[in-house]
Amino acid sequence: MGMKPPEGMKLWNNGKRIDGRSADELRPIKIHAGVLKRADGSCYLEWGGNKVLAGVYGPREVHPRHDMNPTQAIVRCRYNMAAFSVGDRKRPGPDRRSQEISKVTSEALRPVILTHLFPRTAIDVFVEIIEAEAGSRCAGLTAASVALADAGIPMKGMVAACAAGKIDGHVVLDLAREEDNYGETDLPIATIPRTGEIVLLQMDGDFTDEELSQAIDMAIQACARIHEIQKQALRDRYKDAAVTDRPPAPPDMEPPTASDEGADVLEKPAGGSEEGW
Ligand code: ADP
Repeated sequence: MGMKPPEGMKLWNNGKRIDGRSADELRPIKIHAGVLKRADGSCYLEWGGNKVLAGVYGPREVHPRHDMNPTQAIVRCRYNMAAFSVGDRKRPGPDRRSQEISKVTSEALRPVILTHLFPRTAIDVFVEIIEAEAGSRCAGLTAASVALADAGIPMKGMVAACAAGKIDGHVVLDLAREEDNYGETDLPIATIPRTGEIVLLQMDGDFTDEELSQAIDMAIQACARIHEIQKQALRDRYKDAAVTDRPPAPPDMEPPTASDEGADVLEKPAGGSEEGW
């Protein structure tokens, strides 16, 4: 953020951005739920150049035991960027940035999870950034929340996240890498679209009052759009599960007739309701 752009690079050109998007256009987003066999819930997400895997394990026994809370589940998130996820090799392992993002991710997810239902347990959320191209914390949070729903963890709603920012004096949505590097402002936001609550808001750079309201409105509206993609990914996952995870019929049972098809399609993850997604 705030770096001087290379000679001749224009972030804003006749109402279009460096990748041809308009001010309030998102990069393409694809979400798949249920991609890891050993996780209780998982998600693979592509968002522009970001590629993210999220895995949820739990509710499960707490280690170390002294972290256990007798009245509710503890929620722990680890955000990690693979060494090969960026152009320059990133030093593997935790650093200040990944610790900060792990912390804000946990804090954004904790208010939505009905932790009181699982005292003395841990819900562990792992976010692995396989390729990073600006906005990876929002991509990670969006994927983590789908993985939680896929794990059947009861929540009061899913969390969706998106950044807004400022480039060449224009308020724009979902910064691309050059915009993140050379733009003026980055404002990642996460909301619970179902309730309208904001669970993460960070800002790097500066805005006038008016620009700030415009950026927040833009990001909140984008979160609602992203929430629709998250819900569709879960619907697709349970549609697929009904076809691929169908147990073989016992030998003495008649094969299913056409009218049985789809009878056991799960419309929602166990423990959750469409309302709560
Ligand atoms: P976010 O990914 O949430 O936007 P930042 O604003 O901190 O978080 O990072 C912006 C982008 O900068 C990242 O998505 C990634 O492409 C790049 N980046 C971050 N850390 C590193 C690093 N250690 N080495 C190279 N590139 C990095």
